[in-house]
Amino acid sequence: MKPTVALAAMLALGTFVLAGANAAEPRPKDFQRVVDAAYAKYKGLQEGKNADYIPILTRTPSELFGVVIATRDGKIYSAGDVDYKFSIQSVSKPFTAALVMTQQGPKVLDEKIGVEPTGLPFNSRLALEIYKDKRSVNPLVNAGAIAAVSLVQATSEQDRWNKILQNISDFAGSPVPLTVLEDVYESEYSTAFGNRAIANLLYNYERLYSDPEEAMRVYTRQCSIGVSAKDLAIMGATLANLGVNPLTKKRVMNANDVPELLAIMATAGFYDESGEWMYTAGLPAKTGVGGGIVAVVPGRFAIAAFSPRLNEAGNSVRSLNAIRDIAGELGVGVFGPNPN
Ligand code: GLU
Repeated sequence: MKPTVALAAMLALGTFVLAGANAAEPRPKDFQRVVDAAYAKYKGLQEGKNADYIPILTRTPSELFGVVIATRDGKIYSAGDVDYKFSIQSVSKPFTAALVMTQQGPKVLDEKIGVEPTGLPFNSRLALEIYKDKRSVNPLVNAGAIAAVSLVQATSEQDRWNKILQNISDFAGSPVPLTVLEDVYESEYSTAFGNRAIANLLYNYERLYSDPEEAMRVYTRQCSIGVSAKDLAIMGATLANLGVNPLTKKRVMNANDVPELLAIMATAGFYDESGEWMYTAGLPAKTGVGGGIVAVVPGRFAIAAFSPRLNEAGNSVRSLNAIRDIAGELGVGVFGPNPN
């Protein structure tokens, strides 16, 4: 493990021991109170705009907003549009990285993808040229996520897809596989020239492990899976519960791999705002250009939110504010209560 990842993993684990295992859990009415307060506070916030580089995302109603907490024993506290299905986009990335860890062990992520934050936009081609050793840099930027898809052990494209969909559905505790929003897939796949360039560059550098166009199709389908804010919260709660889904009780990943995955989410989950996010909220998280965000309080619970308007870095403005407020109110930042 690289020193930075080892440090972050130790911090996350240490926090679990110190804060998670020993801290009194907030009472149900406190969970509901902070969710309601964050929802009320940011419901009127008009900052940012829907993603438009995937044309169809401009059509998602911008006023949608939902906030959810899911605990490691499966309790849900929510406000707003928490059942609306939007495209998961980059929030899918840590979960496919988890599948790769489960199939091949955690070292493979470090060796074949990388675990460094880039400090560059999520779709950066420049990062591939700068980080000459790993190229794809980390599994939460597009290059690393396309590489992760290509690393999933599968016998065919269909098998690769089935495994990825089943894994994400298992994290969400969905009794039937989640559904792809086909119009989102079509809209993104037909305009994904930048991602295609990334896939081809990686292949050129021998850092992509399947046919590039196959990886592109499966990656784009993965990003087009429809999820609700509630689904995201359960996915996060599965990480908080050390890999066991709180609803279905199914083990979805190895408990030992969770700290390393959370470490990558802590250092790279918020695009090139990851430092700012950890500084102000202190929680491992992953965001997506569909407007979803999930943050994990290790060993305890997850906070998810959805709203389509994004800031310059690609992070949902209402969602990030809501989650940051809740983390601050409950005092659950992994480095200690955050006084924001
Ligand atoms: N499917 C999107 C892309 O590849 C995901 C981006 C994101 O949510 O960060 O551009």
